[in-house]
Amino acid sequence: MSSGLPSPESNRFRSAWCGEVLPARVGETVRVAGWVHRRRDHGGLVFIDLRDRTGLVQLVFDPDDAGEAFDLGHRLRSEDVLSVSGAVLERSPDTVNPELPTGSVEIRVEEADLLSHAETPPFEIESFSGEVSEETRLKYRYLDLRRDRMREAMELRHRVARSMREFLSEEGFLEIETPVLTRSTPEGARDFLVPSRHRQGSFYALPQSPQLFKQLLMIGGVERYFQIARCFRDEDLRADRQPDFTQLDVEMSFVESEDVIALNERLLASVLGECGVELELPMQRIPYDEAISRYGTDRPDVRFGLELSEITDVFRGSEFKAFADAIDGGAVVRALNAGAHEMSRSELDGLVSEAQEIGAKGLVWAVVEDAGWKCPIAKFLSEEEIEAANQALGAEAGDVLLIVADSPVASAEILGELRSRLGERLGLIPQGEHSLVWVVDWPLFASSEETGAWDPLHHPFTSPEGSLEASDPGAARAKAYDVVWNGWEVGGGSIRISDPEVQSTVFEILGIPDEVAEDRFGFLLQALRHGAPPHGGIAYGLDRIVALLHGSDSIREVIAFPKTASGADPLTGAPAAADPAQLRELGLGGRAAPKGPEGEGQ
Ligand code: ASP
Repeated sequence: MSSGLPSPESNRFRSAWCGEVLPARVGETVRVAGWVHRRRDHGGLVFIDLRDRTGLVQLVFDPDDAGEAFDLGHRLRSEDVLSVSGAVLERSPDTVNPELPTGSVEIRVEEADLLSHAETPPFEIESFSGEVSEETRLKYRYLDLRRDRMREAMELRHRVARSMREFLSEEGFLEIETPVLTRSTPEGARDFLVPSRHRQGSFYALPQSPQLFKQLLMIGGVERYFQIARCFRDEDLRADRQPDFTQLDVEMSFVESEDVIALNERLLASVLGECGVELELPMQRIPYDEAISRYGTDRPDVRFGLELSEITDVFRGSEFKAFADAIDGGAVVRALNAGAHEMSRSELDGLVSEAQEIGAKGLVWAVVEDAGWKCPIAKFLSEEEIEAANQALGAEAGDVLLIVADSPVASAEILGELRSRLGERLGLIPQGEHSLVWVVDWPLFASSEETGAWDPLHHPFTSPEGSLEASDPGAARAKAYDVVWNGWEVGGGSIRISDPEVQSTVFEILGIPDEVAEDRFGFLLQALRHGAPPHGGIAYGLDRIVALLHGSDSIREVIAFPKTASGADPLTGAPAAADPAQLRELGLGGRAAPKGPEGEGQ
């Protein structure tokens, strides 16, 4: 196997990559450079595995050949940086390592140069077994990056980005950069603000996405744009979010949803194909309402069943008042048939606590028996109710049923989350399988359960399907489509509003007063009045795509220098206090600096 790298320029450090010192080179003299991966001292002989990005090669320091270099061989420590030259020899058959492409040869060292000495690393690079804390790995990320798994992640990331660039370039898309210091682009998160020194009291916002600029590019006649863009969202920290992350951002003019979907299916097939994953086209499409009712989420993982059912009608007017009253109050009853499992009473009650942790007010479990249900509320239920529920859920003796009565949103969210956890726990998710689906037919707005205010399900620039009635926002559907991959939202986009009147109506529905809309988005409204083509696009989370292809649970595994789940960077110490002098320059106050010989102090 070859690294695919062109041979290095021959210089004083090396003439060959470590991983490319293959049997065909036996008899040649080569010079290689890299890090001491492992060292074995066998009395008279010292063996070193030398590592560079392409792999390992064995060096032998033999006093007969190595001369002065032999002493150095004795002194070498893990991760020292070395350049050596010597003859490539075949290993004796009993010392061949079949695991390595270079495992049947070794370099007999004639000259060696210690280029850099390494302190004892805080964790062993070679036998890293996951016992090192993530904090330590991130603090010493430059060491972590030397591990195979991280190198593979970086190579994969590069391959993914390159195949995106190549595909889109072939299709006539222009790669264009948009500003990082800009105004707010609402995508549902808080902005990171950057104070302006020249205009004190004014702030730039870092872009949550290039959304508005890509629309302006379409109005500017660019027709087809893409960018691998850094985006910034100050969100409540969640395990797998990064405050700065990378999107593949795409936009095109004179298109409808179908055109964007078709092009993107080809893009995805090409990128996945490049990474050895075959994507069957056309991709499955699931309407939003169906995703919620069957999977309890708009990010359905369709690799396994365990689907939800709505059984509100079964319990309307039930003797079990908690359900009947909830239904009268607008609740729905949803249930999940988890299948036949031997579960103890405490395991079943454990599911109730788990549902409560997720946010459920309660959860009812039932074990289906030949005659009736074993269930804490069984005595309140009629035979007909049990029979009807069994029928609706396809339940058979032994099956475990989980039932939630709550608002339509909450009941779906709770059972959707339980479904994912059970799918994982019961081993229902086929490993190594990739399933990508489109979620389509989105509502344009959702009303907040607390305040009743309308929020966009995507962003405020998404085009409604058909006409938009300000009086009935709940009825509006969006020309929007998301890509969901194994239960992760990896992409989302829409056809945009290209009519300034419609855009103003959306702002009105969102409760954005005219003056505020004019102040924040006046430039967009104005541009829309200067001949806006119909346009639409999509953006993908590049980090997520690479993590899925890499088989990593966290995007931090595929980002060179990520932040921890709490938004900190253990390597640089960011975020850090700012120098008071710097704050004063920005008009942000800061304590007066103590006068000292150096002028400004801390
Ligand atoms: N701007 C959107 C986002 O960042 C994507 C899009 O609508 O193209 O999610």
